[in-house]
Amino acid sequence: MNQTLTTDQGLSIQHICKQFGDVKALNDVSLDVAPGEFFTLLGPSGCGKTTLLRIIAGLELADSGRIFSGGKEITHLPAIKRQVNTVFQSYALFPHLTIYENVAFGLRSRKFPEDEIKKRVDRRLEMLDLGPMARRHPHQLSGGQKQRVALARALVNEPDVLLLDEPMSALDARLRAQVQEDLRRLQRKLRRTFILVTHDQAEALVCSDRIAVMRQGHVVQCGEPEMVYDYPRDSFVAQFLGAANLIEATRVPGGVQTAFGFLALEKAPSWEKGTVAIRPEWIGIGETEPQCNGIRARVSEIVYRGTNFDLWLEPGPIRVRTSSYRRIDPGREVWLELAPKELVILEDETR
Ligand code: ATP
Repeated sequence: MNQTLTTDQGLSIQHICKQFGDVKALNDVSLDVAPGEFFTLLGPSGCGKTTLLRIIAGLELADSGRIFSGGKEITHLPAIKRQVNTVFQSYALFPHLTIYENVAFGLRSRKFPEDEIKKRVDRRLEMLDLGPMARRHPHQLSGGQKQRVALARALVNEPDVLLLDEPMSALDARLRAQVQEDLRRLQRKLRRTFILVTHDQAEALVCSDRIAVMRQGHVVQCGEPEMVYDYPRDSFVAQFLGAANLIEATRVPGGVQTAFGFLALEKAPSWEKGTVAIRPEWIGIGETEPQCNGIRARVSEIVYRGTNFDLWLEPGPIRVRTSSYRRIDPGREVWLELAPKELVILEDETR
């Protein structure tokens, strides 16, 4: 999304703090979400994602800070008056109602005319491939189907913002991957704002226009998926978004001194002592010594992952990812290339 954000469009979260007893669940969180954006709150358990989502939904009140939607302040607006719908982890379907009635529920309680209800419900059921299930009850559906009913029920109200609280956590890995892509496609088609909460980095990368990585009540980094993956700010983000080799380093002219010797960098770090990172798939592997940043290493372990091999090498250990047709057995000596453009200088976390 290349939209310039202002507080008069989209959702603007400003300096939100929330404390439960001694626990600072949210500590000065500010974020802007553009209209029609797929925005993800990503972080480990307990970092404050759900609390933030509940504050956006109006299910929880912030201790301080403000929230604006479409330029209007909604900080103290009751949940029912917000143009926001939530899909919960548990789906929260009514077991005694049919799928059709589950989806119609919100419109019925808002006293929509029957023909309008039918039109809207049929459209959503069809869009989510649920047409043939309309007369069934929730217990007659699979996990993935229930998940789609929960989505249909939220979308039928045509909310400006759809909040998704780990909606795929009950699905098995294969179905989950499919639903992630479906959700992305659906959001593109509807062009509504989706805010997803997840601790699954792959899910965040697949679905999002932008990701906010959270830790202990703070937003550590916010940006497009490629940006946060390729340029993690610190070692927490580097490791949370995927595998990363973290190398302790001391600044010297032209680069850094490390346990592997001198490594050239594209620019000088701001710190004296710190960390550089490189993803396993960015490391070159070959028989001849590279011109720059070569490390002679021996394969100690190989793990097959279907799409690729993960190699562990000494000294290090360094993890390198090679394609699945490139098997290099333990014991072999190779040259690794940690090209300067692939080395990410992480921020000094001791400050
Ligand atoms: P998870 O992925 O496990 O759901 P989360 O990132 O969504 O975690 P939150 O549920 O927002 O985290 O919780 C943030 C912190 O606030 C946690 O330490 C949690 O124990 C605490 N917390 C959340 N809700 C309450 C509450 N109602 N009462 C007391 N503490 C709470």
